[in-house]
Amino acid sequence: MTNQHATLPVRKDWDTYFMDIAHMAATRSQCPRRHVGAVLVQGKKLLGTAYNGAPMGVDDCSEAGCMLVEEYEMKLAGDGQEILVKKQRCVRTIHAEQNLLLFTDRSDREGSTVYVTDQPCWTCANLLANSGVSEVVYHRPYMKDSEKVKAMMHQRGIVFRMMEGYKPPIGTEMPLT
Ligand SMILES: [Zn+2]
Ligand SMILES: [Zn+2]
Repeated sequence: MTNQHATLPVRKDWDTYFMDIAHMAATRSQCPRRHVGAVLVQGKKLLGTAYNGAPMGVDDCSEAGCMLVEEYEMKLAGDGQEILVKKQRCVRTIHAEQNLLLFTDRSDREGSTVYVTDQPCWTCANLLANSGVSEVVYHRPYMKDSEKVKAMMHQRGIVFRMMEGYKPPIGTEMPLT
């Protein structure tokens, strides 16, 4: 017996399906430093997509350049010691998670799942925790706020999980700076 569908791609599971869409949304971002995408899912229904960007009608990073701030961050060195490193971040954009919350309704978010390409920062995590969302799934870790974000999500009873071994669709991922 021959398999007529042998050349078709494998059917994606739901996690992969929605995370792929989050990565597609991220390709809309104009910040050359970081492309982040997020989607809102209720049951198996897609109720919103968002990416990081400047407010509507305002120059974005591609037009006005990134708006950089320098901050010292704690980082774990190879020997397990915590060290302070200077990092630059772009603060021009509204984060994808924040845009997602701005463009979706509270009633749609109750008990929903957010798929986001990157682990949320502290501010976004706080907003998500108060948004009605009951699960947050991310792909790339973001070490800066990781421990306190995980602790807060746990305390709030929100499922917070990373998709291990996930590979984004070809052509959607940019190198991190
Ligand atoms: Zn930027
Ligand atoms: Zn954020």
